[in-house]
Amino acid sequence: MSLRVRTVLGDIEPGELGATDYHEHLFQISPLLRGDELDDESASGREAEHLRAAGAAAMVEATPTGLGRRPDAVARVSARTGLRIVHVTGAHREAHYAVGDPLLDEPVDALMNRFHHDLFSGMDGTTVRAGAVKAGAGYWSLTAFERRVLTAVGQLAAGTGAPVMVHLEHGSAGHEVLDLLAAEGCPEDQVALAHVDRNPDPVLHRELAARGAYLGYDGAARHQRWPDSVLIDCLAAVVEGGAGDRVLLGGDVARRTRYVAYGGMPGLAYLFERFVPRVRQAVGDAVLGSVLVANPARWLSWDPEQ
Ligand SMILES: [Zn+2]
Repeated sequence: MSLRVRTVLGDIEPGELGATDYHEHLFQISPLLRGDELDDESASGREAEHLRAAGAAAMVEATPTGLGRRPDAVARVSARTGLRIVHVTGAHREAHYAVGDPLLDEPVDALMNRFHHDLFSGMDGTTVRAGAVKAGAGYWSLTAFERRVLTAVGQLAAGTGAPVMVHLEHGSAGHEVLDLLAAEGCPEDQVALAHVDRNPDPVLHRELAARGAYLGYDGAARHQRWPDSVLIDCLAAVVEGGAGDRVLLGGDVARRTRYVAYGGMPGLAYLFERFVPRVRQAVGDAVLGSVLVANPARWLSWDPEQ
């Protein structure tokens, strides 16, 4: 058993990962985000440089199948910037796909074969391999497609040990998603629940962490909903409750109008420049080290050669 993190440039030792932004998008095109396409390699590359300069050593490219992902370009950006990047495969929640997209009709075994190929052979005709597998749920709802994806992801994760990320809309249905994955044999401690902080409830977060799941905090700089202080207070309460070894930090900025290199703001650097110092102040250096370095390395480690 030899644990590795599978990056777009090859497998590395978990200890080589460093401070990790567990959820961003360098490339993404979605009918839900018209006018916010991330599709320019040089601009996305510059934004990745900003993230690197702000203090990230690694990030997860969270754009799954069929949404304008560019594995070859992500690998080039990684090589150019020195930012280590783990790419996901899997699928997003159904609303991100155009009506009639053939992916939406694929049965479980076809989805599983597709995601397996991405993990072990390469994505979209390239030799760039994914290092994690993603599923998505709606707000307290799962379409038939989303259920098939969860089943495929759960079986694949159970069989391979690959890390899992699940998009939870507004942080809903965390327990239910873990139940469905566990029913396929997927250990809960392989799973990162993205966007749990869109429901900043520390009691719920501690419950999910007690099942082993990682808690994806990725909603900073969205004060039309609530200020960053709410997230930091929630995170501190989760740490206080003993779940500091489950928290992950990401930006999930995901829109060109929020990327500095595309002419927007506040950009990917916000997480490390503005949010992380406040987390450090709230929980101290040791916990911050766990959140930025140890937790993502543990979540992303598996044995891809077994
Ligand atoms: Zn995202």
